[in-house]
Amino acid sequence: MNLFDLDQAEFETLFASWNEPKFRADQLWNGLYKNLWSAPEDFSTLPKSLREKIEQNFELNPIKTNIRLFSSDGETEKVLFDLVGSGSVETVLMNYDRRRTLCISTQVGCAMGCTFCATGQMGFGRNLSSGEIIAQILFFERVLVAQGDHVTNVVFMGMGEPFHNYDNVIKAIDTLNNAQGFNFGARRFTISTSGLVPKIRQFAEENRQVNLAISLHSTDDEQRSKMMPVNQKYPIDDLMKACRYYLMKTSRRITFEWALIYGVNDSEEEATKLAMLLRGMICHVNAIPLNPTTGYDGKATSNQRAIAFKNILEDHGIPCTIRLRRGIDIQAGCGQLASKNKTN
Ligand code: SAH
Ligand code: SF4
Repeated sequence: MNLFDLDQAEFETLFASWNEPKFRADQLWNGLYKNLWSAPEDFSTLPKSLREKIEQNFELNPIKTNIRLFSSDGETEKVLFDLVGSGSVETVLMNYDRRRTLCISTQVGCAMGCTFCATGQMGFGRNLSSGEIIAQILFFERVLVAQGDHVTNVVFMGMGEPFHNYDNVIKAIDTLNNAQGFNFGARRFTISTSGLVPKIRQFAEENRQVNLAISLHSTDDEQRSKMMPVNQKYPIDDLMKACRYYLMKTSRRITFEWALIYGVNDSEEEATKLAMLLRGMICHVNAIPLNPTTGYDGKATSNQRAIAFKNILEDHGIPCTIRLRRGIDIQAGCGQLASKNKTN
């Protein structure tokens, strides 16, 4: 277990069981989440015996930097972290407008097997604990604070399917959201899912302020099942019903993600079908030209086709953004660096 796996209440319970006063639990909590402690010397305000007890019982640094890369334009930074225990994951920081958006991982690999995705091509390793998820954010917050800046947004769009690791993802969000600690607003998180319908419904019922993104990529069940095996279990109709349920419960706008693949899902006809499918929903489409991966022979759409796709959606009143492929030169696409490192 690592130190970041505990929430505030768990620290208090633990310290009580160690016969430590509550203010010590508060001191550690503040140290980790307000003062961003990471190195053993940061803990020097705690009594030595307590420090030793913490070190004996917990891992203080659950993620170790393996590779750190900067894109040539300097706007994207990517880190491959080795996890204590097993496996590696990637985290990407994007400077975009005035935002510092962090794209974090929730699993080593992914069980969903989407054919076009480098992480899906790897297969499933294991779930990350809440602390391993949190540690990615704190790492970059420390980097940015040293530059007088902060992480402003966190998207669960790195490796793994966040709703396949639901409890740890939610615990990480709640821990960071705690106003007496890191105090990161729920609205600044976005969870992206390939469409695990029961979890979308559970998430809707919890009515959190966290944003939801759905990876759709096709309006046709046969095609979507080929691209995203999860569709065999939760076909498009079930998925859209769950999305409408979410909208009814939360009134929060949904983002639909669409990787534009040349000749596969980037036609004007497909854009019209998508507009029909999303009719009447409070939503937004994020279209991103496919990031080519070694295990999939599809190509990215052309700029011209991407713009035509966007125009059709907007003609039907559905806002659409074409995302730039950022950090291409550092394999910043989902799972690409980890898979490259594995095969090297
Ligand atoms: N597992 C979650 C979140 C991680 S993937 C999900 O699938 O939603 C984040 C986004 O990147 C998803 O929309 C996913 O479909 C997309 N993606 C994966 N591989 C891609 C690629 N090669 N090119 C473009 N987008 C890709
Ligand atoms: Fe997993 Fe998302 Fe990649 Fe699909 S796109 S394999 S769900 S990480």
